[in-house]
Amino acid sequence: MILTRWVFITLALYIQQSPPLAFARTAHPGHAAHVHGEARINIVVEGTRATVEFIAPGASLYGFEHAARTDAEKKAQAVAFSQIEQQIGSMVAFPADRLCQFIKQKIGLVADDKRAHTQQPAGHKEHHDPRSHTEVQADFTVACQKPLAGSQVRFHVTKVFPELRELTIQVLTETKQLGATITNDNGSVEL
Ligand SMILES: [Zn+2]
Repeated sequence: MILTRWVFITLALYIQQSPPLAFARTAHPGHAAHVHGEARINIVVEGTRATVEFIAPGASLYGFEHAARTDAEKKAQAVAFSQIEQQIGSMVAFPADRLCQFIKQKIGLVADDKRAHTQQPAGHKEHHDPRSHTEVQADFTVACQKPLAGSQVRFHVTKVFPELRELTIQVLTETKQLGATITNDNGSVEL
């Protein structure tokens, strides 16, 4: 039975190939490749509380991704960190009537050496050292006085960091999970 044999071989090939593909897709859930000009924002909501994770390439925040060496580089990095800390409440804007307060958990550098690294076509420098694809990760908890379900979150990231023009948003609440791409701060997500 040639047909049966063909089906068996096809199936065998399919099974052989499937696990690595499936693994590759789930290895970094919710994580897009590190692309200059793009930030990722993950929001997890539970009642009146939320966590907000903001991740962006160093190049798009302060212009480089190698370890800060000169005083000017260290200062540029520190300024970006404090901008994130001071302005996260407007960069990721929960509705004012929910009376939310952002509390910083941590802001730090994360090496992006395992992820695919691609450049935006125009205006971005090449990396000389392929190992240094550093991104900044900032984690906050958000404590609100009213439940967050049904509220709209708006974004003002490009206003603070003009190079960050695209946001990949992931939202997880008790009742739903959604993803959105927002360009130039245009758009919102409903919790
Ligand atoms: Zn990079």
